[in-house]
Parts: sequence; structure tokens; C-alpha cells
Amino acid sequence: MGTEPIETTDDTHSTDTPEIAVDHVSKTYQSERGAVRALDDVDFDVQAGEFVSIVGPSGCGKSTAFRIIAGLESPTEGDVRVGGTPVTGPGPDRGMVFQDDALFPWRTVAKNVAYGLEEVGPPDGFTIDERVDYCLDLVGLSEKADAFPKELSGGQRQRVGIARALAVDPPILLMDEPFGSVDARTKTTLHRELLDIWTETQKTICFVTHDIEEAVYLSDRIVVFSGGPGTVLDEIAVPLDRPRDRTGDGFTDIKADVLAYFEGEED
Ligand code: ADP
Ligand code: MG
Repeated sequence: MGTEPIETTDDTHSTDTPEIAVDHVSKTYQSERGAVRALDDVDFDVQAGEFVSIVGPSGCGKSTAFRIIAGLESPTEGDVRVGGTPVTGPGPDRGMVFQDDALFPWRTVAKNVAYGLEEVGPPDGFTIDERVDYCLDLVGLSEKADAFPKELSGGQRQRVGIARALAVDPPILLMDEPFGSVDARTKTTLHRELLDIWTETQKTICFVTHDIEEAVYLSDRIVVFSGGPGTVLDEIAVPLDRPRDRTGDGFTDIKADVLAYFEGEED
């Protein structure tokens, strides 16, 4: 804390523009029971192609930050820029995946994945059907194309949610506790699959979780939020090769570094 981020004013290098810039964002909700300060001067960047997680205890404002980056809510102060452009609402440049898959129960798996494509059209070189097939293959669900969501397991539903978010080929994937309600074994599988998808598609991923091990397993960098109102306590790089060994020394050391913030053990 107390150090100002280094502002770069040299626009000649486009690589200097972060893919996502969260610029001194605060959020106060006005409710009937008074004002709730959810975020306080949150400031961090995500570079193109990076996998960044936001971790913090329940109620610290992670979903609020997610919704502001997604454009589903406005900050009270500060702003968010994507590729240098201020966010004013949701857009096809940011795919979203939620904890509760929010699939349309009356649509088949394929029709769920096609949903965004019907609005904005398929990416260049694809028909809608080809794009749906590609995305279902990416998440390993080609055989379930004609099934309905209620016929799927929780893990399969989350895979459909990921396929749907990827369908319009957004450069950015925003994920809010996407594996929060799947069992531990499925979660481990989904972690491997998500990293494969990230490698294949080269998306920028901003991943919200309260599961520290999950964040260390997946991320290039972890943005640690304090308890509410959320502020950035630290940004912790995870310079470990993938696939990561969850029991390795480097892994458990970084996990302990993050955990320390929530046990009051930091200096
Ligand atoms: P997290 O995702 O980290 O669990 P949230 O972003 O959901 O946290 O919530 C942060 C704080 O903001 C909490 O105190 C929550 O009760 C409050 N909050 C979230 N959404 C609203 C809302 N729409 N109106 C009022 N308060 C809200
Ligand atoms: Mg949340």
C-alpha cells in the first residue's frame, strides 16, 4: 500500500496498454438499510493473455469487482478500461461465466452455446453451427449437443457455460467462482481443462475465487483482496511451471503467502 502505480504515458507502445485496467475503483451500494461500501480504491491491471485471479473472503467485493469489469454495474468512483476503452456496459469482448451456470433450461446444450452467436454473429470464417461444434469440442461435450441442461452433471453444466462464453471468441474471459459448486474431483478435472482451453485460445482470464489453492494452481498472478470493503492487499506472482504440483514446495509456499493475509499473520 502507499505506492502509486507507475503510469505510463508513452502511447507509442500499444503493448503498454493493459487488456484490463481497473483504475482506482470504489463502489458504495445504497440500500434501504443504508450505504454499503463494497470496494475501496481497487487498482490493478491484467495484461493480454494473462491468467489473473482475485481472491478474498466472502463478502469482500469480488463479485462486485467482477460485475464492474463485466459492465453489469458502474463504479461509484474510478473506472475500468478494456484495451484502453472505458467500460460502459457488457460487450462481446468479455465472456462471462458464473458459479450458477445460468443456462437456459428450455434450450439444448448446442442452443445454449449458440445464444450469443445468434445476437452478434459467429466469428469470421465460421458458421454458427461450426462455431458451436468447435466450442463444444473444446470443452469435451460434443456428444451432449442435443441434451438439455437438466440432463447434465454440475461439471458438465459449467463446461457448457464456458463454451457459451467462448462462442463469440471474446479476448477476455471473466469467471466468478465458476467451480464453486462442483465436487472436489470434478473441480480438479475442470482446472486442467480450463488451463488447456486457455493455452489453446490464448484468452485473457480474470478469475474470481475464495479458494486459494485453486488460485495458486491456475494463475499467473493473484490479486489479494482484504475483507470488505475490498481493497488490494497485495499482488502475488505465481512463477511456477504448469502443470503444477499442488503438494510441491513452491506451491505450498505461495499458498501460505496468500493464506497469511487471512490469518492476520502478515506484518
Ligand atoms: P463477494 O463476491 O466477495 O462475496 P460481493 O461483491 O458479492 O462479495 O459483496 C460485497 C459487499 O457488497 C457485501 O457486503 C454485500 O452484501 C454488498 N452488496 C453486494 N451487492 C449489493 C447490492 N446490490 N446492494 C447492496 N449491497 C450489496
Ligand atoms: Mg461473490
